[in-house]
Amino acid sequence: MKYYSTNRQAPVATLEKAVVKGLAEDKGLYMPEHIRPLPPSFFEHIEEMAFQEIAYHVADAFFGEDIPADDLRSIVYDTLVFDCPVAEVEKDIFALELFHGPTLAFKDVGARFMARLLQYFIRKEGKNRINVLVATSGDTGSAVANGFLGVEGIHVYVLYPKGKVSRIQESQFTTLGHNITAIEVDGVFDDCQALVKNSFMDEELNRHLVLTSANSINVARFLPQAFYYFHAYAQLKRHLHETGNRLVVCVPSGNFGNITAGIFGREMGLPVHRFIAANNANDIFYQYLQTGVYAPKPSLQTLANAMDVGAPSNFARIYDLYGGSHERIADLVSGATYSDEQIRQTMRACHEATGYVLDPHGACGYQALKEGLKVGETGVFLETAHPAKFKEKVDEILATDIEIPARLAAFMQGEKQTVPLSSQFEDFKAYLMKQ
Ligand SMILES: *Cc1c(COP(=O)(O)O)cnc(C)c1O
Repeated sequence: MKYYSTNRQAPVATLEKAVVKGLAEDKGLYMPEHIRPLPPSFFEHIEEMAFQEIAYHVADAFFGEDIPADDLRSIVYDTLVFDCPVAEVEKDIFALELFHGPTLAFKDVGARFMARLLQYFIRKEGKNRINVLVATSGDTGSAVANGFLGVEGIHVYVLYPKGKVSRIQESQFTTLGHNITAIEVDGVFDDCQALVKNSFMDEELNRHLVLTSANSINVARFLPQAFYYFHAYAQLKRHLHETGNRLVVCVPSGNFGNITAGIFGREMGLPVHRFIAANNANDIFYQYLQTGVYAPKPSLQTLANAMDVGAPSNFARIYDLYGGSHERIADLVSGATYSDEQIRQTMRACHEATGYVLDPHGACGYQALKEGLKVGETGVFLETAHPAKFKEKVDEILATDIEIPARLAAFMQGEKQTVPLSSQFEDFKAYLMKQ
């Protein structure tokens, strides 16, 4: 399968080029030329299939032309060594729990898949060292660093905004050592993202190093996120059949990679009636839905910090998919936006009424369903991270002392190692030129 750029000013790319380059030459995002629908027989039997097997069929639709079936199957199976269960929170509202992986957030899925795909290409072709650059507002860094940890032939540089990431999140990518370097940038997330983008555009740097991105713009991270939407449907199929309800999927969104993968799933035939994109105070997409004007802004710091994105990259993919039609986009996706105070209230109300502990990101998703669900609809929101990743905030808001899962506690024992840098591209470039 070939990949084209959303800006349409770059040549089409092979899968390997799209994965290694991350971003097209014209700064556009790569899109697969086809989104292949899965056959009716797949949906008829989906509830009898294991998550890994469901995921393999989804992966085959995108990557089957480029990767032999046995290799693809082992990449998928090795990626999904944990489950993504659906939990009933209250009548007709379910949480798709995406936090059962190594770093307790949904980004584990895409990051683990990308690391294994890149390793497949390196092995196949005996390539030189590949350097992965990743900007993070928290969870991307830990998922990518852990997904790539110890993968031979790959070095990862994690760029994160100094002082704007929780201690638990920080420990997950600053204590690993080996092939992982954490860069502490004196700036905000958007600065980190700009440093990464500029690096890919710098000819001199690209002659010196093979660079690739592991942000959610990369097709190898982005597309595998479709897997768990199918698995969620498989788990809810019986409920939907019994109630006759239609499925609404609500995604707490920042850079919009996760929801876009779900929209791709629907294009493949997944019976999702509609989507809701839940934003925190960074409401660029919400405003777009109201006005038809896409107006990026500097990001604001909020409680749900992995959604603090002022210029959501993957908007370009949604826009491209629907031919730039505001009407088509607004028909399929509605929006919601919540202040920190509303997030706090939601977490408390849900905990009191149901006993379910939401994290601040999932809280936006839950609340958007509470307010937006219509008669005849069942909603599933993506619980994108484990609440213990935000333990200090969650405990303060709920007056609890939630347990830290063992795999999370283990990170906090390690010693922090970082390289402090300014937000100037020249500094970052000089640092990379010395590597
Ligand atoms: C990254 C992240 C999000 C936002 O996902 P996007 O794909 O960027 O929209 C939401 N919640 C958590 C916990 C995240 O880590």
